[in-house]
Amino acid sequence: MLSRTIVAAVLGAFLAATGAATAQQSITIRAGTILNGKGGVQRNAVITVEGSKIARLGANTTQPATYDFSRLTILPGLIDTHVHIANHFGKDGRLAGTDESPGEQALYDAESAYTLLMSGFTTVQSIGAQRELALRNAIARGQLPGPRVLTSSTPLTDANLTPDQIRQFVRKTAADGADVIKIFATKSIREGGGQTLSDEQIFAACDEAKKQGKGIWVHAHAASAVRASALAGCTAVTHGFLITDAEASLMAMRGTYFEPQTGLLLQNYIENKPRFFGIGNYNETGFKFMEESIPKTLAMFKMAMKHRDLKMLMGTDGGAGAHGQNAREIIYRVQVGGQPAMDAIVAATSLNAAALGMQNQIGSLAAGMEADLIAVDGDPLTDITALRRVMVVMKGGRLYKNVAPSR
Ligand SMILES: [Zn+2]
Repeated sequence: MLSRTIVAAVLGAFLAATGAATAQQSITIRAGTILNGKGGVQRNAVITVEGSKIARLGANTTQPATYDFSRLTILPGLIDTHVHIANHFGKDGRLAGTDESPGEQALYDAESAYTLLMSGFTTVQSIGAQRELALRNAIARGQLPGPRVLTSSTPLTDANLTPDQIRQFVRKTAADGADVIKIFATKSIREGGGQTLSDEQIFAACDEAKKQGKGIWVHAHAASAVRASALAGCTAVTHGFLITDAEASLMAMRGTYFEPQTGLLLQNYIENKPRFFGIGNYNETGFKFMEESIPKTLAMFKMAMKHRDLKMLMGTDGGAGAHGQNAREIIYRVQVGGQPAMDAIVAATSLNAAALGMQNQIGSLAAGMEADLIAVDGDPLTDITALRRVMVVMKGGRLYKNVAPSR
């Protein structure tokens, strides 16, 4: 019996390590600390994974575990509700334009997906580009390593469409296979962030998305557009650079998710200035504006945080240069923004999962959930930078990374 157990454990480790674990192959993981993604903490626990799911999560035993991560902290795989996975630096090291072949684009996308997964993000919502549909499908086939991808495909940018045409756009995008709808209701903040879609156009988009059973993310800076989005029942407002207390209250009251960016988006542009400069609105005025905006977004975030009932997502808007650094947003919120570490972690796990409508599959660690988990070196509750020391990544019961130091 003993030898059979050892053989099973070794075989399990081998199959998991090669990504070939078959359904119902049981894997046990011993954890020093578990953060369950919903605010719970458990010390010295064992997670049993069968197939793609967590079968049990219980107290530690003396049984040998397939993996012993008793010196690490295990938490749900991180989720970013706003990335641009198709956005990358090209052959010349600068923001890639339209001069790449489809093959080059696909491979850059695969690289970005791999980088995201290795950094502990097991689910990302990319909003978006049409070719993200192909990337999502490729990863879902199970051979290409990457996070679960949800995508909006092509976003709505044309403010000249009538409300009826906007509804058609939403229906077509949903029919084409998009997981979510993305609309631009204001200009870029580098261009002042003024409202571009009328309140009626915003309503048409959000109402139709709801009818199609899709979430909808609204790019909005101007307070007026944020108000219209909350009143129209849109799922989430992203950015919200120009909001005041009144809009934060309104979003909280209406249950609108709010997705501000404080710690990575603008910093990444500035750190990589030569790679963006001279393209579109990435000019001197744009960069000066972005530099001045960092303390302003921080102040806005601190204001929003005071609204305890406001559901604040962790969505970085990360594109070229930012892939794999997404946890910087969480770290900044805690270290600079003053958000409690547990709140920031819950946002990046169970709250984000709920915003994606996937709270019964991902974002928390419990029996029946998908086995999406990471192990980090350190305790993120006392040292949030531990989120950048990702030693182990498992998605859907498959182990994609294990660089945990041996005992
Ligand atoms: Zn974006």
